[in-house]
Amino acid sequence: MVQPVPDEAPYIHCEDLFKIYKSDDLEVVALRGLDLRVERGEMMAIVGASGSGKSTLLNILAGLDQPSAGRIRVGERDLLTVREEDLVDYRRRDVGFVWQQTGRNLIPYLGAQENVEVPMALEGVPRREARERALSLLEQVGLADKRRNRPTELSGGEQQRVAIAVALANRPPLLLADEPTGELDAATADEVFSVLTRLNRDTGVTVVIVTHDREITRRVDRVVAMRDGRTSTEIVRRAHFARDEAERAEEFAVVDRSGRLQIPREYLDELDIGRRARVTIEGDRVEVRPEQAHDETTNPDRKWRR
Ligand code: ADP
Ligand code: MG
Repeated sequence: MVQPVPDEAPYIHCEDLFKIYKSDDLEVVALRGLDLRVERGEMMAIVGASGSGKSTLLNILAGLDQPSAGRIRVGERDLLTVREEDLVDYRRRDVGFVWQQTGRNLIPYLGAQENVEVPMALEGVPRREARERALSLLEQVGLADKRRNRPTELSGGEQQRVAIAVALANRPPLLLADEPTGELDAATADEVFSVLTRLNRDTGVTVVIVTHDREITRRVDRVVAMRDGRTSTEIVRRAHFARDEAERAEEFAVVDRSGRLQIPREYLDELDIGRRARVTIEGDRVEVRPEQAHDETTNPDRKWRR
């Protein structure tokens, strides 16, 4: 359903989002109360261990899968209550998607330019206009000279760049990419990220990339880490006055609407924090201590465990 949304609302807004996969007698909770906001025109990345729910989230954002509960809005669309026929429109016009497997993005027997024309043909864009736009998109991803090449006549990185052009053919406001460089070497991955950065800057398309690539932190405005189906930390780049890259990025724990945050596993292990912790306010800080907290003088062990 399309509803008016206040101007200052983020482009993507997920609140307490759940996805449960059910099969026979097994239930997998892939998203458990996920909160996420993405601003219009932002370029951000999602990282996290395998199985943390990254692809589940991306598939839901792409309209390929529906969430089980919670709230999720993209632009003016509510993706929880959306009707199937509206979802078809959404997939075709509002979102472009790039898969990790290069072979999944392109039609093998068509040349690069023809591949880019396909989504436009499905939308009824006149042939000539589609051809011109396809060529212009191939120029933007630096592959105009390979417009006639079929996927097998392109390198992995080139195929992914054509895939980006295909995804953007109908000018969707949102581009999603699920580990687009997962099958590429570092140098080629870098070219793909450059193309994404340039398109984001030049066209204002909102970009959400799922990746394992550590280098991504230097490429995007914000990195959100997922753990166990929720967002756990966020790395935000600081203002330009920081001297080097390391200084420019700062990591924060995400606090959700109910005040929940995830404490890194290694901190819990280090301090032997189990099912309960003491949480107190100490001046300008909130302290989290083990339930059986002793002070340093009465617990000699504590000193040596540092
Ligand atoms: P990631 O992309 O971060 O590796 P996924 O979103 O693919 O994680 O998976 C999250 C969890 O949901 C995993 O436990 C996975 O096994 C499960 N899962 C994903 N897709 C399905 C599905 N179609 N049916 C059942 N379980 C699924
Ligand atoms: Mg995945």
